[in-house]
Amino acid sequence: MSPAEILHHVFGYPKFRGEQEQIIQHILNGGDALVLMPTGGGKSLCYQIPAILRSGVAIVISPLIALMHDQVIALQQYGIKAAYLNSALNFEQTRNVSRQLSKNELDLLYVSPEKLLTTRFLEFLNQTEIALFAIDEVHCVSQWGHDFRPEYTKLSILHQRFPTIPRIAVTATADDPTKKDIITHLGLENAKIFTASFDRPNICYRIVQKQNAKAQLLEFLQTEKHNNDAGIVYCLSRKKVDDTAKWLAQQGWKALPYHAGMDKGTREQHQMRFLREEGVIIVATIAFGMGIDKPNVRFVAHLDLPKSLEAYYQETGRAGRDGLPANAWMAYGLQDVVMLRRMVDNSEADEQHKRIEQHKLKAMLGYCEITTCRRQVLLNYFGEHLATGCGNCDTCIEPVSTWDGTEAVRKALSCIYRTEQRFGVQYLIEVLLGKKTERILKFQHDKVSTFGIGKELNNEQWHSLFRQLIARGLVSVDVEGFGSIRLTENSRPILRGEEQVFLRKDIGKKHRNKAYSRSSQWRSFTGNEKILWDALVNKRSNLANTQSVPPYVIFHDSTLEDIVLQQPQTLAEFANLSGVGAKKLDHYGKIFIEILGEHIIKYGIPVADKPITATIERETVISESAEITIDLLKQGTNIQDIVTERKLKYTTIYSHLSSGIETGQLELEQVITDLTEQEINEIEDHFLSQESLEALKPTFEHFDSIYNYDVLRCVRASILYRIK
Ligand code: ADP
Ligand code: ZN
Repeated sequence: MSPAEILHHVFGYPKFRGEQEQIIQHILNGGDALVLMPTGGGKSLCYQIPAILRSGVAIVISPLIALMHDQVIALQQYGIKAAYLNSALNFEQTRNVSRQLSKNELDLLYVSPEKLLTTRFLEFLNQTEIALFAIDEVHCVSQWGHDFRPEYTKLSILHQRFPTIPRIAVTATADDPTKKDIITHLGLENAKIFTASFDRPNICYRIVQKQNAKAQLLEFLQTEKHNNDAGIVYCLSRKKVDDTAKWLAQQGWKALPYHAGMDKGTREQHQMRFLREEGVIIVATIAFGMGIDKPNVRFVAHLDLPKSLEAYYQETGRAGRDGLPANAWMAYGLQDVVMLRRMVDNSEADEQHKRIEQHKLKAMLGYCEITTCRRQVLLNYFGEHLATGCGNCDTCIEPVSTWDGTEAVRKALSCIYRTEQRFGVQYLIEVLLGKKTERILKFQHDKVSTFGIGKELNNEQWHSLFRQLIARGLVSVDVEGFGSIRLTENSRPILRGEEQVFLRKDIGKKHRNKAYSRSSQWRSFTGNEKILWDALVNKRSNLANTQSVPPYVIFHDSTLEDIVLQQPQTLAEFANLSGVGAKKLDHYGKIFIEILGEHIIKYGIPVADKPITATIERETVISESAEITIDLLKQGTNIQDIVTERKLKYTTIYSHLSSGIETGQLELEQVITDLTEQEINEIEDHFLSQESLEALKPTFEHFDSIYNYDVLRCVRASILYRIK
């Protein structure tokens, strides 16, 4: 079989993503590769497919002992012969694996680096046919990151002992110091480097000004309807983790803490529940997350600022691996800036290291304070360029305005100067506002010229101003740790009136209740669709429980969503769904088709007015309800007003309109007004290149989800009308 055939038959995916195919080919040809791809990019397939195709067993080195079991189970679900060896196995289990190996029965073997480096295992490798070495999470070799594992640096032994066996090293960390470390420590100088785009278009980035972080988190969870979703909440300290988890649980959320200070058993149990159950929220320190490949994590929330954009990107990247919409949300405030600045200044590291840390922190703060598209900044940091705003981050959705803060900044700076650079932000604000507090009177700062000169701004606005000054390095926070604010070199030109400062107008309270993220389709399922969805999810849970595996290794949410939207009624149709390979079709196809069948008998075809399974011969029957919608549009009512007037969902209205197009009552251009002729032609061409017009999904995926199903359905309807 070819790599493409394996992708299709075993994994059930229609096409390779990005450079997957080239990477696989490179390994098949015996080359070494270093693969840098964001989380969820599809790194595993790059070594799993060659592992199947090359003879011998592929050795996968992974630091994640607790997760190996699930990784192997997921492969077994696809019918792939995989096993693992690590210190968690007992004697009997280890012997079993050895037996399988000596009989040449395995395609993949996962091992921990410790295990790999034992004399016994290395000797054993000498007598075994090895297909390739895959080194997962290879950034663990670098001391720059927080995942450093000393054993990783010894993995150069692989190259010395087995110079002809191809090696593929993969990671989602791509900054230059890490990359250099990987190459030199592992002797990968001749490896071909594959760098994928780091964009994660399905993640919506958002940062709010921290006021009451817990309440804001709750508000976020509620407005985004994350009620039954899995998510991760990151906090800096263990205490905050415990507090937040407890508090969320009191508010009725299924939240569990995770940090290195907990006993190992409880920690592992919490991780397990997160993986196995639906809708668990893990509140954690950064100790949690590496290698968590749960695909349907719907949000990652930060209650404290991460130290670098790399860390932020890796942590937020754990959301939405399945490609469905997901949220990255962060509450950020003055305290974060002060604390992190101080941490970096006080750190024990040498000067060079400190400079790098400062640089990273600066980039992180810059990202928080930005007034243009966040994704542009993120991608830029990773060396990519995005020409226009992404439309899926807070600054794109609710553009931030700036104001000329020069005058106010000068007042703040001279207030710092007049009070001898000895006070913290809150004190300075009180002086600016002219508050006669005990302390101010004691220091006689009611007598300085800056006393009470800042009444045009309120307390909150001054906070925002100071935060921005610190973030931009226009003032510094003292090193001794009392939080007093000092002037820096950079503040001079402003004090002298030579430079203007534009500041970010922080979004006020009234805006904060808006739900941002584009939603997965299944979230808007109601009525009949929702009943079917629930039945499918339920079945998946049962199947997972009886086999003690996580639900997502049976099917991803996106596959279940497809069942509702496409209603496959035969095994052949079922096999066409993305994520259904031969083995899963064999195991589960019939079971899920039966659920669908029973559902249809009981409740009728879900979304009856959606001409989804329209074959060309089908007589289009227009419901009365659809006629009303079509008439309204003909009379000139716009679609939004129709939705409001009829109190129906957009999807329903569009399905009405598409049946109008299909029967020739409406022109496509009357319904779809925001696409160019060229775009429509491209969509049509893709439909017509398909064997049948039944499925919308291939076209949806071909255009990387930029046209939604409503649009596609209408375009298809206009083709159907013309061919009839
Ligand atoms: P990574 O290891 O890069 O974080 P994974 O290898 O776990 O990512 O892949 C992320 C998800 O994307 C997985 O659920 C995987 O099955 C899916 N995936 C990988 N390659 C493809 C593809 N070519 N088409 C569709 N889905 C894919
Ligand atoms: Zn954007």
